[in-house]
Amino acid sequence: MAIENPVQVAEERYNTSQRATSILTESISTGARFNIHEYTNHLVQEQTTEKKARDLRNKENSEEIMTTLNPEMRRTLQRITNGNASQWLTIIPLTADNFDLTPTQFRDALSMRYSKPLLGLRGICDGCGMEMDLNHALNCKTGGLVKQGHDQIHDIIAGLARQVYRGVMVEPIMREGSATEPGLLADIRIHGVWDRERASFYDVRVINADAASYSTRDWSSTANEAAKAKHRKYDTAAEDLHGSFTPLITSCDGILHTEFQTFSKKLVTSLAEKWDKPRSSIAGFVRAKIQLAIIRAVSLRLRGCRKMTRSAIDDTNSQIIREEAALCLEDGAPIPTQDY
Ligand SMILES: [Zn+2]
Repeated sequence: MAIENPVQVAEERYNTSQRATSILTESISTGARFNIHEYTNHLVQEQTTEKKARDLRNKENSEEIMTTLNPEMRRTLQRITNGNASQWLTIIPLTADNFDLTPTQFRDALSMRYSKPLLGLRGICDGCGMEMDLNHALNCKTGGLVKQGHDQIHDIIAGLARQVYRGVMVEPIMREGSATEPGLLADIRIHGVWDRERASFYDVRVINADAASYSTRDWSSTANEAAKAKHRKYDTAAEDLHGSFTPLITSCDGILHTEFQTFSKKLVTSLAEKWDKPRSSIAGFVRAKIQLAIIRAVSLRLRGCRKMTRSAIDDTNSQIIREEAALCLEDGAPIPTQDY
């Protein structure tokens, strides 16, 4: 996680700081003429050199640690580091940006990243009574949590797409159902992504890449297989609508399949142009947004309640009227008029 031990790095940091500020100290102690541009250039140069050395050291450390891990752990961690799925760990977790996670979400995401057991997970699924593990949590449709988490992911993508593209629609019906055939629903429709005049359709799937059934395959072949299945399901319907179809396949640790990556890059380019910002910073922003949506969706499936709660009161409307009367609220105006 690149959290450094200050005891180990203090001396080196101090030396860097001394070198980087030498022009300033010299000017203060001798009264020599101070050139701000020369100073800033020197400072940036020293910082860059230090960062390069630090990155190299971290890389070497990381490779060394990898060799000591058991094969399953190494497989997971290598997939994540190669798959560029660590953005969420480098952002400032501001609530204002919706970049904050709850402690449980954070711990679960870290546990999955390092193949550690998820703490305090219930043993039995409260929705269907089967044994609860990551795989079951991801797949058990009882209680609607899969749908809810899934919706959060497509909402984030649709929300970003809406900033730059026309015709964004969530859950477009690609084919109406009939007596003989069920209808077909995608997650998102967007106009003008790949072709100015054509609509494109998208469907999301989150896969546990460490599930027993995928344990002998690497992530790219698992993801390719899932993408092919989506194409088989949606391609014809998309063509009938003169559009195209792109599957958005991701692992539950946020590694995107190549088609999802291509879409994400296209989205980043369009957003960077519209917001007039460097492509690299928008890429980081979009990556973090998508990764956090996936972490939240997975967490919901792991920790959310699948059991329906039934109220003993069956008339909700008269209950609301009683509550309003008890609170003396008029016209639904609950804001207190004085400070207490
Ligand atoms: Zn279940």
